[in-house]
Amino acid sequence: MWELTFPRTIVLGDGALEYLENIEGQKALIITDKIIQKLGFVERVAGHLAKAGLAISVFDDVEPEPCIETIMQGAKVARRFEPDWIIGLGGGSCMDAAKAIWVVYANPDIEVEEINPFASLGLRERARLICISTTSGSGSEATWAAIITDTKNEMKLELPSRELVADVAIIDPELPRSMSQELRAHTGLDVLAHAVEAYVSQWSNDFTDALALRAIQFVFTYLLRAYKNPNDKEAREKMHNAATMAGMAFSNSQVGVAHAMGHSLGIIFNIYHGKAVGILLPYSMEFSAIEARHRYAEIARAVGIEARVDEDATEKLIKELRQLNHQLGEPSSIKELGINKEDFEKRLDDLIKRAASSTGVFVNPRVPSTEDLRRLFLSAYNGDRVEF
Ligand SMILES: [Zn+2]
Repeated sequence: MWELTFPRTIVLGDGALEYLENIEGQKALIITDKIIQKLGFVERVAGHLAKAGLAISVFDDVEPEPCIETIMQGAKVARRFEPDWIIGLGGGSCMDAAKAIWVVYANPDIEVEEINPFASLGLRERARLICISTTSGSGSEATWAAIITDTKNEMKLELPSRELVADVAIIDPELPRSMSQELRAHTGLDVLAHAVEAYVSQWSNDFTDALALRAIQFVFTYLLRAYKNPNDKEAREKMHNAATMAGMAFSNSQVGVAHAMGHSLGIIFNIYHGKAVGILLPYSMEFSAIEARHRYAEIARAVGIEARVDEDATEKLIKELRQLNHQLGEPSSIKELGINKEDFEKRLDDLIKRAASSTGVFVNPRVPSTEDLRRLFLSAYNGDRVEF
């Protein structure tokens, strides 16, 4: 049996933001960051909300990879303002923060760590959630989890609850035009990792397969174009849609080892999420191939790679992914991130420990042992082919 959860309403295409002019309510709290504020997006969103007659307040203190303290601050603002709409506006960090703030607003006594699929959170009694994505990566506008950083314990908390999904996800193709070229590369690689890992996950199913495969095709067709030219509207729009489709897929079938290792690498060495998973995906695929060769071959064929046998198709697909990384100017190993070997080895046990506790490990087509994770991290550090 599979239970799938998606946003109730998804608004896409030109002018999607105008949807806000017709929502019903009294007060909206916009959760965002200073960059989004500076880009003028808060003003635009507030303008549309004002047309719907809503009073607006803004919390713009969300930092990249938001921590628990920020969530508590945001919840304090929410309790004072008492909104009936929470609006997450920005990339994954802002939308995840909005989700967690929404939970604490509805449950003042809850600890963020207590969010889990079995807890009853009573969301939607006080407020509903709109997620507006300004980057084409995290898919958070469509997922039912929030990733929050526990700074004290150097942990990324993966907080899942089916209640946490947005009531409305707005994917307006104009908004990602503001992404820097580097961000276009990182977010695009994140979309690819979401979709590939969702497709080969042990929890994949017919519905997530369809979304994941289409998202992968879009990445292969449009990512380089969107990377090179932010004014290529078709490419930008397709990548924006791909991010949400991949989010809908992985939210319901989970990601895998590249994400488990990527979260760990990200928190310990402060590496941007998409950059980390972009490096790790080809290594995790080499490791997983023994159990998922046919699935990788299906992906390869869907993106036009010609090969007679599955083994060949998988090999060629991994090669293409490495080539894509290179074309996007991204490193191909952890060493190339500039982390020196001594520092890496000193933190290797911590890297393994954190990766081993991630859901991605358990649903990966081939479940790695602690020793496998050690060897995987070392291969990815040195740029060595995974042959175990
Ligand atoms: Zn990701």
